[in-house]
Amino acid sequence: NAKAAGKRKISIYSHLNDEVTLKRFTLVRDIQQAIAGKQFYLEYQPRYDIKNQRVTCVEALLRWKHPSWGIVPPGEFIPIAEESGLIVELGKWALQTACREIKPLAEAWDFNLSVNVSVVQIMNQEFVATIKQILEAERFDPRRLELEITESALYNSEEKMRYFLDELKGLGIQVSLDDFGAGYSSLSFIQKYAIDTVKLDKTFVNTLTVNDRNAKIFSSIVSLLKSLETNVVAEGIETIEHYHFLTKNECDEAQGYLFSRPIPVHQLIEMVVELPHICRISSAYRPASE
Ligand code: C2E
Ligand code: MG
Ligand code: MG
Ligand code: MG
Repeated sequence: NAKAAGKRKISIYSHLNDEVTLKRFTLVRDIQQAIAGKQFYLEYQPRYDIKNQRVTCVEALLRWKHPSWGIVPPGEFIPIAEESGLIVELGKWALQTACREIKPLAEAWDFNLSVNVSVVQIMNQEFVATIKQILEAERFDPRRLELEITESALYNSEEKMRYFLDELKGLGIQVSLDDFGAGYSSLSFIQKYAIDTVKLDKTFVNTLTVNDRNAKIFSSIVSLLKSLETNVVAEGIETIEHYHFLTKNECDEAQGYLFSRPIPVHQLIEMVVELPHICRISSAYRPASE
């Protein structure tokens, strides 16, 4: 009836008055257009094996070049793509594009590709079939693929999570736990789901230089993770001090601006070749404090 319709109109109107909601509303529409209009692209950030001094993996990171706003960071559009369900399509595009772009390099230089996946994708029934289809279409070796999930995803339905992770194992795909140390940091999940790699969050690493106690906590966590036989990666390595600290730990790999920012695919091969040399030279320098 008219009264109810009137009420509805008012509530929609008051929503549209809310600037944040309006921006979100526009963003959802824009993301839809951006997928079709090829405004998304990927950058890749290498991961560096400290002991063996080589690049072991590159992480695909989504970028959006918006026609009027310029580059929109993923922290702004991923949550909206998740809420609206558009992440399913966007995530599929990212996985397929990353496999296609990285395959020749990964084979020639023997490294893996890691791709972030959202819990919304994992909870989607067709996701496993989508992954299989992409790997087949791109003829991408599943053993070279790592999927990064965040810890909060593991708090979802155990049954669904178990199904998803078992399917991945069956295919030979590896699983990384991203942003560890930013949330609950549950060691039991790592054990329960047999997580292959744990990525220590950059906020964790950032505290390292603040005081000695944080360094002790960091070292203990790394030891604990190593005792669970997980591969340990430190994210957000920005300084040579961070790097030196890692070399004194059991931490396996490092990722961060010190080694390389996320870069376009055509710059990647240069990085893979040069990084071991750069690291060898820089590790010859000891920080003044030592
Ligand atoms: P993440 O997976 O934890 O990725 C690492 C983020 O840290 C990236 O931010 C990277 O650029 C940044 N980073 C790397 N090294 C350093 C460093 O030394 N210092 C600092 N301060 N930052 C560093 P970015 O590219 O803005 O991505 C943010 C988040 O967006 C990612 O965090 C990831 O959770 C999400 N994301 C990106 N691409 C995708 C995607 O394709 N799918 C999904 N579901 N999420 C994505
Ligand atoms: Mg990640
Ligand atoms: Mg992530
Ligand atoms: Mg992370």
